Amino acid sequence: MQAPSIGGVMLPRGKGETIRLSRGASLTDFAEKINANPASLVQVMFNLGEMVTATQSVSDETLHLLGEEMNYTVQIVSPEEEDRELLESFDIEFGEDEGDEQSLVARPPVVTVMGHVDHGKTRLLDAIRKTNVIEGEAGGITQHIGAYQVSTEVNGEERRITFIDTPGHEAFTAMRARGAKSTDIAILVVAANDGVMPQTIEALNHAKAAEVPIVVAVNKIDVEGADPAKVRGQLTEFGLVAEEYGGDTMFVDISAKQGINIEGVLEAVVLTADAALDLRANPRQSAQGIAIEAHLDRGRGAVATVLVQRGTLRVGDTMVAGDAHGRVRAMLDDTGKSVKEAGPAMPVLVQGLTNVPGAGDNFLVVGEDRTARQIAEKRAARERNAAFAKRTRRVSLEDLDKVLKAGEVQQLNLIIKGDASGSVEALESSLLQLDVGEDVDLRVLHRGVGAVTETDIDLAAGSDAIVLGFNVRAEGRATQAAEREGVDVRYYSVIYQAIEEIEAALKGMLKPVYEEVELGTAEIREVFRSSKLGNIAGVIVRSGEVKRNTKARLLRDGKVVAENLNIEGLRRFKDDVTEIREGFEGGINLGNYNDIKVEDVIATYEMREKPRG
Ligand code: GDP
Repeated sequence: MQAPSIGGVMLPRGKGETIRLSRGASLTDFAEKINANPASLVQVMFNLGEMVTATQSVSDETLHLLGEEMNYTVQIVSPEEEDRELLESFDIEFGEDEGDEQSLVARPPVVTVMGHVDHGKTRLLDAIRKTNVIEGEAGGITQHIGAYQVSTEVNGEERRITFIDTPGHEAFTAMRARGAKSTDIAILVVAANDGVMPQTIEALNHAKAAEVPIVVAVNKIDVEGADPAKVRGQLTEFGLVAEEYGGDTMFVDISAKQGINIEGVLEAVVLTADAALDLRANPRQSAQGIAIEAHLDRGRGAVATVLVQRGTLRVGDTMVAGDAHGRVRAMLDDTGKSVKEAGPAMPVLVQGLTNVPGAGDNFLVVGEDRTARQIAEKRAARERNAAFAKRTRRVSLEDLDKVLKAGEVQQLNLIIKGDASGSVEALESSLLQLDVGEDVDLRVLHRGVGAVTETDIDLAAGSDAIVLGFNVRAEGRATQAAEREGVDVRYYSVIYQAIEEIEAALKGMLKPVYEEVELGTAEIREVFRSSKLGNIAGVIVRSGEVKRNTKARLLRDGKVVAENLNIEGLRRFKDDVTEIREGFEGGINLGNYNDIKVEDVIATYEMREKPRG
């Protein structure tokens, strides 16, 4: 068969041999495997009608398509598989309980609370925690470590349940995306006064995709207009049929705020677990599980909350978690009490790791420090390579543009730093899910826990990236570096806000930035009471001019006492006017706002669009 030739470049066609590529590999990776020129593969894809750059990671389908075209059998290796192979090379098996049936012992279910924003997830987690957390012996200070365990009595038996303390499906999905199964049962919180909302359905779909049984907590039944029956009806359409309607989903009506029927939720979780799942684990083996939350602590170094999934974790054990490793120096439970060991489904805060693992990273105990270090190092190297491959893309993209004039592929590069691995990953995975059409592309070059550092800025400057700081700031010289290099560093404390802004930026419609421009100030000399309009301020304008329909704030003794007011009415003598200038007197009506006093100052301002720098 004739080898295809493009622009004089011969393409080495295969003989059907198998090549293994990591999920998310690029054409350059492909080219390396078959000793070809990446640009020629770009051209092949171009001929097949797909515009792909050489270093962009492409979908499984694209890799298969290219394989077919070039006569290779492409085998895609997922990161999980790669990791499994790595562990196998050390003779370690992750994910299976050792031993036979007899070695398995019942373990508590692990639960994640999901649902639409404001439907009461956090409140429910708090309520459960408050009423049922297993007391520490010394009545330890309860602390949020990312998960907690409660105990409840069902049919006269004491049963435990482990709750993941980060509400929402973002964290859940981020972990799942890393191949970690953190959750056995999902509690779907639906506010009875609001009903099924978009994120309710999203959460439901995530739980279903993970094949996790759902318990529905119909919350806020104390609120007027609450309609728990309607929620049941709505969810029927999505395949969740309440037991009382002949289905197999347990619905529990609760008020997280008033603490009504919290026990009912716990009972439903236990009963659902008993009916639908066989939750058992071998407590007598080396511990394995996942990291669910981790951060850098000033005093204690890297601390990670891990959820033991099988085996028993003990102080002194040597462990690997993601690309972190170390000896377990100390463990704290969710009441802040120091513990010596932790069995299946128990969350503990572990100290002693070299660095911060990611949420969803697996952890395992190994026999020797050396093994732990080697596994960690191999994983770190893989991450670095992946990051490097992404980093070099910009350069290649430009070069390719010249060669191919490849349309308008645009890319937004991001570096995400945050206070905890859970939030960083939640943010990353939400951002990567943004669907903004084909001509823009979002890429996370680097993510990590901790302040925004000079290295982050360097990386950003080198690849035109934007830095997102989630609950962290730039430290020391990083701020200066950012200014010097003109790197855009954005700070957020709410995930949704970050997502919204990035989405807007990707859609090329980032909201304009407004700045406040002071228009004028007026001093209140007299207060007139009008039965129709409320209080009217008799004023003299002290500076600038006061205009109708502009924003205002009220100052008393130099302090702001009210914000966001409107100059609704403006009068000089008997006439409505649109403005009053400095030195003139008049009357101001602030709409519904009536708490005005003589000598108060009304400062008016306008929000003006600021040109983007
Ligand atoms: P999340 O966004 O789902 O975590 O929602 P939150 O737990 O933060 O709750 C959102 C708001 O609803 C808060 O103001 C809560 O106090 C309120 N809330 C939560 N549960 C109830 C409830 O059972 N009854 C009432 N009346 N308010 C509730």
